[in-house]
Amino acid sequence: MSTPRKEVFRKYFGRVVALLGYKFTPDAELVEELLDAEVELERQFGAPYCPCQARTGDRARDREIVCPCIPYHRAHYDAMKRCWCGLFVHQDVEDPSALKQIPLSELKAQGKL
Ligand code: SF4
Repeated sequence: MSTPRKEVFRKYFGRVVALLGYKFTPDAELVEELLDAEVELERQFGAPYCPCQARTGDRARDREIVCPCIPYHRAHYDAMKRCWCGLFVHQDVEDPSALKQIPLSELKAQGKL
């Protein structure tokens, strides 16, 4: 369901991530689900926190998971070509199903970071 706040997020996030080389995933259902979750998280906790990452209660650390959190996790997400939730993908991605969520520790162990 569309709400004014959700549409603000859609426009604002779209502009911000474009500057970083990302776009909304082509998976439209996932986009709606995650934006709805972020509207609710903002309502409850005051900011559109990531629906896929746990808040710690530490303000400085939690700021790093306010959407879009790409600048704080750039190398990690660039290596996956997607953000952790998959809401955003690199601009050249057409099939997001081919992209996997890979923990940072795993990428480091593989020498990819
Ligand atoms: S992982 Fe994706 S959806 Fe979650 S906060 Fe970061 S950019 Fe937003």
